[in-house]
Amino acid sequence: PVNSGRDVDVLVIGGGQAGLAAGFYLNRLRRDEASGRSGPAPTFAILDANAEPGGAWQHYWNSLELFSPAAYSSLPGYQMPAWQGEGNPSADHVANYLRTYESRYDLPVHRPVRVEAVRMGEGGGYIVDTDHGRWTSRVVINATGSWNTPDIPRLPGSDGFTGQQLHTAGYRGPESYAGRNVVVVGGGNSGAQIAADLVPTAHVTWVTRTPPRYLPDDVDGRALFDIATRRVKALAAGEPGTGGVASLGDIVAVPAVRKARDAGLLDARPMFARLLPGGVQEEDGGKLDADVIIWCTGFRPDLQHLQPLGLTLRNGVPATDAQLPAQSVDSPGLFFLGYGDWCGPASATLIGVGATARDSVAAAAGMPVR
Ligand code: FAD
Repeated sequence: PVNSGRDVDVLVIGGGQAGLAAGFYLNRLRRDEASGRSGPAPTFAILDANAEPGGAWQHYWNSLELFSPAAYSSLPGYQMPAWQGEGNPSADHVANYLRTYESRYDLPVHRPVRVEAVRMGEGGGYIVDTDHGRWTSRVVINATGSWNTPDIPRLPGSDGFTGQQLHTAGYRGPESYAGRNVVVVGGGNSGAQIAADLVPTAHVTWVTRTPPRYLPDDVDGRALFDIATRRVKALAAGEPGTGGVASLGDIVAVPAVRKARDAGLLDARPMFARLLPGGVQEEDGGKLDADVIIWCTGFRPDLQHLQPLGLTLRNGVPATDAQLPAQSVDSPGLFFLGYGDWCGPASATLIGVGATARDSVAAAAGMPVR
């Protein structure tokens, strides 16, 4: 490890793609210092709760496919190796890429280390308590993702349902659902991909609050990044929002989804009203049998550890700066990477997070980052 102590200039919390992107630029400063091209670089460390590299990608289901080809799914500096299989790269391919990435740049990732609480130190800076002791730092870059905080709506009858319920985060593949009545809830990418994954083997009912909205078939991760960037730039310039990706649709038509949709297997029904012991009741009173309900209802940013800071919330997320949307308005030493467009254009994507990571590291270090 680069630092033997537990007092660093910059502490990155989370070692998924967003945390590694920050690590890349922090490492660049370290390299520039070593070659005499710049002054002293900030010391840093990355704390990651997972036992293995790869962030959320190591937990995704087997058939998950990226929105875009490898060439448009890379973090800064090192291109994701080409994918030899059909379609776009798998989740494992990404997890392996991230594993290689952190060793290639010799990033000081400490794992498994879970941050439990972040509070302000008396003389400025942050005190960071973990399940493996205390760290202190001048800057905290939060990159904890949202995989650990699934969002499941409470509906009448939830407790009486006798079947199995799980969230996207618990889905591993279609094998254990063959021949069963499965209700998949959610009109986003996870809902569409999981419904498409199950239709060949299970009796699937796909349920969405509003009719599914597919992005045009030619829109992939690269286009999403461009759209998100335009939106954030417009907002930062005080211009009206362009509507962003959401104005185009919610679901990226990856090949598996397109195939199921075009075969007429992805006809969504409206959201049901309540759960019953062996199924769900629709708004019109009809009953749908359900052995399993899979809630593909999204995630919330995993920020419990920041509670002691008492951050101001805006639209349910920490308020951030209009010019540098990763930077907290409450605490200039605090940054957010990877959660969504609110903290940087396409910050939740491999291709998008690098730009905001670079700007955040430059602001944190008080020096330009090449
Ligand atoms: P994560 O990958 O979740 O990593 C966060 C890390 O922080 C984890 O290792 C976690 O253990 C750690 N952590 C959490 N809390 C703590 C704590 N308190 N202390 C210490 N460590 C902590 N993105 C793309 O770019 N392209 C795609 O094609 C794409 N397809 C997707 C398809 C689906 C169905 C889904 C669900 C997502 C997809 N994404 C895609 C999004 C992408 O997977 C996530 O946005 C991305 O994993 C977020 O990266 P992250 O580094 O912010 O968070």
